[in-house]
Amino acid sequence: MKKTALFLLVAISFQTFCLQLQQSYGQNSSQLASTDILDSDVFYRQAAKRPKLKNYSVQIEALLKKMTLEEKVGQMTQLEIGQITSGGDTNINIDPQKLEKAIVQYKVGSILNVNGHALSVEKWWEIIGAIQAASNKTRLKIPNIYGIDSIHGANYVRDATLFPQEIGMAASWNPLLMQKAAEIAAMETRAAAIPWSFSPVLDVGRQPLWARFWETYGEDPYLVKVMGTAFVRGLEGNDVSNDKHVASSLKHYMGYGFPFNGRDRTTALIPENYLREYILPPFEAAVKSGARTVMVNSAEINGVPGHINKYLLTDVLKGELGFDGFIVSDWQDIQKLVTQWKVAKDEKEATRMAINAGIDMSMVPQGYGFSDSLIELVKEKKVPMTRIDDAVRRILRVKFELGLFTNPMPNPAVKSNFGKPEYVQASFEAARETLTLLKNDRNILPLAKNKKVLVTGPTANSQIALNNGWTWVWQGSEPSLYPKGKLTIQQAIEAKIGKRNFEFVEGTRLTRPPNSPANVTPTMTDEEVNVKKAVDEAKDSDVVVLCLGEGSYTETPGNLTDLTLSETQLKFAEAIIATGKPVILVMVEGRPRIISRIADKVSGILLALNPSDEGGRAIADVLFGDYNPNGRLPFTYPRSTNNYLTYDHKIFEVEETSFGNVATSPQFNFGHGLSYTTFEYSDLRLDKKTVPMSGEISVSVKVTNTGSRAGKETAILYLRDEVATLSPPGKRVKRFAKISLDPGQSKTLSFKLNQADFSFIGMNNKPIAEPGDFMVMIGGLTDKFTLK
Ligand code: BGC
Repeated sequence: MKKTALFLLVAISFQTFCLQLQQSYGQNSSQLASTDILDSDVFYRQAAKRPKLKNYSVQIEALLKKMTLEEKVGQMTQLEIGQITSGGDTNINIDPQKLEKAIVQYKVGSILNVNGHALSVEKWWEIIGAIQAASNKTRLKIPNIYGIDSIHGANYVRDATLFPQEIGMAASWNPLLMQKAAEIAAMETRAAAIPWSFSPVLDVGRQPLWARFWETYGEDPYLVKVMGTAFVRGLEGNDVSNDKHVASSLKHYMGYGFPFNGRDRTTALIPENYLREYILPPFEAAVKSGARTVMVNSAEINGVPGHINKYLLTDVLKGELGFDGFIVSDWQDIQKLVTQWKVAKDEKEATRMAINAGIDMSMVPQGYGFSDSLIELVKEKKVPMTRIDDAVRRILRVKFELGLFTNPMPNPAVKSNFGKPEYVQASFEAARETLTLLKNDRNILPLAKNKKVLVTGPTANSQIALNNGWTWVWQGSEPSLYPKGKLTIQQAIEAKIGKRNFEFVEGTRLTRPPNSPANVTPTMTDEEVNVKKAVDEAKDSDVVVLCLGEGSYTETPGNLTDLTLSETQLKFAEAIIATGKPVILVMVEGRPRIISRIADKVSGILLALNPSDEGGRAIADVLFGDYNPNGRLPFTYPRSTNNYLTYDHKIFEVEETSFGNVATSPQFNFGHGLSYTTFEYSDLRLDKKTVPMSGEISVSVKVTNTGSRAGKETAILYLRDEVATLSPPGKRVKRFAKISLDPGQSKTLSFKLNQADFSFIGMNNKPIAEPGDFMVMIGGLTDKFTLK
């Protein structure tokens, strides 16, 4: 009797536990019990399930009928916050006259971003409250939709919880962590009364020079697709009207991340088959999963600026993919059609081209030229009313779905969703999973806590470097705004091993030119501070933790002409290495800066990327063995400048090596990452050797932890099409798993591959699967099957 009751109790609590997990992650609970991702595709299909949102057509059509042209154009206009406020930074205040002009006179339907720097929750309530009150004074009382860049947490709300930047989240290969981080970002954004975030970035990071490389999930489209969908689901949840969620904006549609010469907002040359093979899939997946808005590529592809590319905006996005949210331009990009791209002679012509191409809302963001031009263009019949109605319908739909018509301001109770202590723990756990151990000669790591350690280098004591751009200000560059009490790398190491065996000497420092305003500073440069002291202390230590890398930057200010790490840092590293003491290199950076001059001479390399506020503690945990690293490179780490080869390059090694040429050999391969334990792959099994064209194949493999500590392993399944009508890549990622294993423990993974996985985009720009042999590769094991 008692036993039955106990059993029932246990069963009920287990069920509740699974249900809670399922509710918070929307995922198959059996996978979650251990937080393992046993099959990336199972996770993806769950996250990508489009929620059923209420249909508001009746309300939208009724409203649309009542709207004047001016009211419609107002909905299509987005201004930046400076257009309705005076002052900047903490002195920012609503300017009643400006507000009246924007919202009442011009009926502007959307405002964005910050003027200078992040504001407190209370200040946001005050500002957005005033905007919504003004909107409520307009004839039709249409609420405003405020948009903001919540890039790695609600980074424009003071004291929000920040997470590792996307490139780090990609290194975790853990979409569950990404979803959780985005859920928290959404809660903290909505707690500030903001219903819309300009994230995630779904540009594929295949050009490491690009200053926004770190805003991407790296070079593989499949990884980008899985992580990006997790981000969208985290932000939007299953009901975007719920005031724990916000609308997302997929950006920057598309090709922005692949500038030919690496400079921000410059030309990309991308044939359509390549676009559909590598660039479109993440957008396609996220659109199909229900993402509510899309932001456009500021640059151009093949000579066609993103903002007038009717084929991509209207035919592909709205037509082929069935996108029913709205498209917002990027910053000032209609004007840039005149000033930068020179495809239009004036703003009016640019407006006609962009709106007719399919832009629904213009991030103007300053002045009223857009509104005035668009009204004239409609009156002159140069922009059809049907196009305007389509745009307005889309914008109204999202406003209804967000619940803004019923509650332009959320219930004040949502403020309690801000700043919960458990968010910090979530950020810390995420940071630890992003750290990637690239080199560990003779198992120098983990370090014993009683060793005498010198910590040195320009990123050792920098919260800015740990966070990078989009942190409190656009360039992440304002030290006074960073929260107190977050530990930098050197502080976290001191806290871990104690003062006695610890020394910190800066050596070199990342600085910005004096008096440069916080929001428009160029990339930081390095200066020597006390190199000699650092070298002397190194001689006196058992081991040196040398923290190099980059400061903060994004967009055009982060442009670079050479990926090589700065001469100041390389020389500093060489001086430290020359002491003969073992050196552990910690790279805090947003893109792979070339380190080939020093990489072979250091004993260990930990790639930290931009792990954010909890990154210092996370790095100390890994270095001293309190956490077993498990990140895997989501991009290829080049060995030399111009050696930008992605892992999925064509197979030309045979040719190369026969000439003794190692041009293809990167510093570190995509997918590389070490652990303090060892994993063995065995029993690779395919359930058939011949697969019919539209059939499926099951692939299973056993992974065993053969070392002596518990650890996490990412298993990456690659497929190679042996012969194809378009020269096939050497391999492509098709699935992955992220699992935890205790010493001696094994898990068998099984994946199903289907026609979509066997296909590539052919010369006619359509997917095609061709009969022939395929090779499956996982954890060093390979096997073949034939598609018939
Ligand atoms: C960036 C976008 C961003 C927008 C608003 C632009 O400069 O390219 O990514 O969302 O500004 O801040």
